[in-house]
Amino acid sequence: MTIIDTPKKIPSVNILMNTPSVQKLVSMHGVVLVTRCVQSVLINLRQNILAGESTNMAALVQSVFEEIERVLLPSIRPVYNLTGTVLHTNLGRASLPESAIRAMVNVARGASNVEFDLKTGKRGDRHKHAEILICQLTGADAALVVNNNAAAVLLTLNCLARRKEVPVSRGELIEIGGSFRMPDIMARAGCKLVEVGTTNRTNEADFKAAISSRTALIMKVHTSNFEIKGFTKSVPERELSRIAHNHDLPFIIDLGSGTLVDLESYNLPHETTVSDALKSGADLVTFSGDKLLGGPQSGIIAGRRDLIEKIKRSPMTRAMRPDKVTLAALQAVLCLYTDTKRLAEELPTLRLLTRDPVEIENLAHRLSKVLQEYLELCEITVEQTYSQVGSGALPVDMLQSAALKIARPDLRRSGKTLEKLAQSFRTLQIPVIGRISGDALWFDLRCLEDEKGFVENLQGLKA
Ligand SMILES: *Cc1c(COP(=O)(O)O)cnc(C)c1O
Repeated sequence: MTIIDTPKKIPSVNILMNTPSVQKLVSMHGVVLVTRCVQSVLINLRQNILAGESTNMAALVQSVFEEIERVLLPSIRPVYNLTGTVLHTNLGRASLPESAIRAMVNVARGASNVEFDLKTGKRGDRHKHAEILICQLTGADAALVVNNNAAAVLLTLNCLARRKEVPVSRGELIEIGGSFRMPDIMARAGCKLVEVGTTNRTNEADFKAAISSRTALIMKVHTSNFEIKGFTKSVPERELSRIAHNHDLPFIIDLGSGTLVDLESYNLPHETTVSDALKSGADLVTFSGDKLLGGPQSGIIAGRRDLIEKIKRSPMTRAMRPDKVTLAALQAVLCLYTDTKRLAEELPTLRLLTRDPVEIENLAHRLSKVLQEYLELCEITVEQTYSQVGSGALPVDMLQSAALKIARPDLRRSGKTLEKLAQSFRTLQIPVIGRISGDALWFDLRCLEDEKGFVENLQGLKA
């Protein structure tokens, strides 16, 4: 077989397309897809040859097969999240309970009454599906579900404060990450941010001085992902709501994560619940559906009915409405909250956050033996570690956990080797995502529940 080792010997797209095995691919996948893949294989080949490599026709055809396989593989795939961050935004945040998955599949398959009133036979309200449960669980009068909490905040500000002023403490002008910055959101919502107090201290007098005839509402933002310590002061919710109401203004809290249950009763750190926020006098509270709540990506606005109705009437709301699959999942998740005893077993987010460190450590010992057989050159130890909640919820509090620490003590500079090792785990059938810290690759096992699947998946390391 002729060796292809110079740019001149690279076959044309046509020649490659007309080989019998590539023609077979064309009959299966169509000429457009196969031509694209042939072109991209040839571009790659040129680079490889210039880098001194060589190939032959059979290997080239094989590359076309592989390229097509790669293109047809779904690009969003399940992974093992062993990063130690339970609600990892880049890894899709909350894992959903089985009941929510069933509900999603159920409505995804065919028509549903997402916006149809079965009683009257007329058009219905999609926001009603989750509203009753949200109200029951939070004590709110009314609620509205949108695509995410960023949308909830944008919408609330746009509908209630456009062309007006919104005083916010300087200590709460947060950036959540992924370009969600409070001052930018305010600008996009069409309102004027009035900065109040200083970074570390804001008091009641600051707020009173900031209120004018142009003020639309007072807003408090949960400082989700950081903590200011030392000489600090902020105005409690109750005081802010009193100041707002004395001026006939609504008081809004962006809770960020927004939990529906008292986390302390599950031995987790304290976090203000949505119902606490409403009890302290908030007229509206906004929060995420896929952070501590443990549901699908969504944002919830809960509180006073007249304000919710005003927001509902806005065309912006139409642009941020959730789909039937999300609503079905959210409703199923909210249902679990009606039985707080079963909640910690059935809601994956809470189950993972409250997982017994001893159980995680036992799992680590079992897996270290299995993994050692695949990674003869590595030193694998079981280490105590601390997981994070993630997604800006409870940023400082860490949960005791156990991890596999995988190191190559024989290599003095092991950075590249570690990156290669991490990469080989990422190329498994189900990619395994850990984190590199210091001179080792770490797998925090808090979020690994499918031990059998994980072990089977490791087979891929042989290749
Ligand atoms: C996470 C967060 C948001 C954004 O919520 P998404 O659901 O990610 O859109 C907004 N505000 C605060 C305080 C947050 O913590």
